[in-house]
Amino acid sequence: MNVVDTDIMIIGAGPVGLMCALLAHISSVDAVVIDKSHGPLEVGRADALNARTLQLFEIVGLFDELYPLGKPCNTSSVFKEGKFISRQSSWWDELEGCFHKHFLMLGQSHIEKLIDEKLKRLGAAVVRGTTATDIQVLEDHCLTTLSNGQMVKSRYVIGADGSRSYVRRRFNIPFSIVRPQIVWAVIDGVIESDFPKVPEIIVFQADTSDVAWIPREGDIDRFYVRMDQKEFALEDCLGKINRAMQPYRLEFKTIAWFSQFSVKESVAASYSVDDKVFLAGDSCHIHSVNGGQGLNTGLADAFNLMWKLNMSLKQGHATQLLASYETERLPVAKSVIESSGALVRATKDGKETTHAENYVRIVKEKAGNITGMGIRYSRDDQLVGSRLHDFEITEDDAIKRIYSILNYSCYSLLIFSDEDKPTINVPEFVRVICVGGKDSDKSFKAKDPPYKNVALLVRPDAYIHEVLDLDQLGCIENCAL
Ligand SMILES: Cc1cc2nc3c(=O)[nH]c(=O)nc-3n(C[C@H](O)[C@H](O)[C@H](O)COP(=O)(O)OP(=O)(O)OC[C@H]3O[C@@H](n4cnc5c(N)ncnc54)[C@H](O)[C@@H]3O)c2cc1C
Repeated sequence: MNVVDTDIMIIGAGPVGLMCALLAHISSVDAVVIDKSHGPLEVGRADALNARTLQLFEIVGLFDELYPLGKPCNTSSVFKEGKFISRQSSWWDELEGCFHKHFLMLGQSHIEKLIDEKLKRLGAAVVRGTTATDIQVLEDHCLTTLSNGQMVKSRYVIGADGSRSYVRRRFNIPFSIVRPQIVWAVIDGVIESDFPKVPEIIVFQADTSDVAWIPREGDIDRFYVRMDQKEFALEDCLGKINRAMQPYRLEFKTIAWFSQFSVKESVAASYSVDDKVFLAGDSCHIHSVNGGQGLNTGLADAFNLMWKLNMSLKQGHATQLLASYETERLPVAKSVIESSGALVRATKDGKETTHAENYVRIVKEKAGNITGMGIRYSRDDQLVGSRLHDFEITEDDAIKRIYSILNYSCYSLLIFSDEDKPTINVPEFVRVICVGGKDSDKSFKAKDPPYKNVALLVRPDAYIHEVLDLDQLGCIENCAL
């Protein structure tokens, strides 16, 4: 039988599997990625990229292509009895170390198509119309049997195969689901309305807050309508929308997607099997769409996992590092379930003030999750484990953002000093970037960097691994992961 040898076998090419494949390529790691579908998503599903995802896209060169396609949105509003009673954006405005303080409203299909095309151009196209029929974990590798008759021998397997994950079921990883009996209709389309259109997320307060208007790219708009039952027609949804936005009227000129989803909440009991098989994205966490966190959390899983697999492949198996994928990401999934769960229940069960005002209050409270900027990998309120703040630098008079010069395939040692570059030997997986003041002779200069006279060892996913005094830089020579 035909056996393909690779480093990583990726099962599922939704946004998370596609991102894993791209990050493997960027890290010069071999990967095979398969999907049962015949092409990327055409319409529907996720509609918002948060500020952290935008920063991560900057590191891997996707930001410039994607950003112009979407619509920035940072305001959550409440509309009641014919007028706006609240319009808030403080949790975005107050973000530090970030240049894009908003959601980028953009359909999931744009993200999938862009990465899918990129992989094709890189000669690493998704193998489509193909599923995995078996996965064996052997002593030093995995053996995956595909539905096309091929076998793939790999060091690692990633299950990025969505909420009904074959990989999760194959290894009997518990995934008990809570069903709060809430059913949403979703409508994407081109609207006609006398409502003064604004690029804001609007929660409408009628008896409960069962209608939300989500701005989207181009001339598309999205409506979420809570229906609480599985049997309903488009007219029922339009009736609720029109009741909520009285005295204004709305109809759809064209409909691109009309679907429903029943809220389900779960986190996999474990994210890995024997340090060889890993779950990422919806295969290991599902929850309500409120707060727009599913796709963003899945992409952050991919960014957290892939550099660890890369280091492990290149530097020798790093058990502790691989284990940190679960210890870092599983609590994040739990917090996402808590925040999206509080939001979705507030549309129905909130008792204080109005449901819609209560909803926006919870958005503010859970802003760390919703913006993605409050996720950190250490409990202490210190730099280690926190995200690197973005800031402006100049290189040969060209203005850049620090995130645009980070490299996902290695750690960055950022030395903030006007002094001469110290002579240090760094391991091959560390790249040194010296940032001087605006009058220094450094190639990278920053007028007002958020860090001064210090060195930061920054992980490939732009979280701070270590803070070093400038006179301690010698330690970096012996730095182990
Ligand atoms: C209506 C709706 C609205 C949403 N809105 C938002 C939002 O606003 N913001 C947000 O962040 N998230 C949102 N989400 C969630 C978001 O769509 C998911 O979190 C995201 O798609 C997860 O990506 P994934 O790659 O993990 O899984 P998926 O997108 O489900 O991809 C899994 C892939 O695996 C493939 N596959 C499955 N089984 C196999 C197999 N056995 N073999 C091979 N291939 C397989 C599938 O074909 C698919 O391509 C929404 C979801 C829905 C349904």
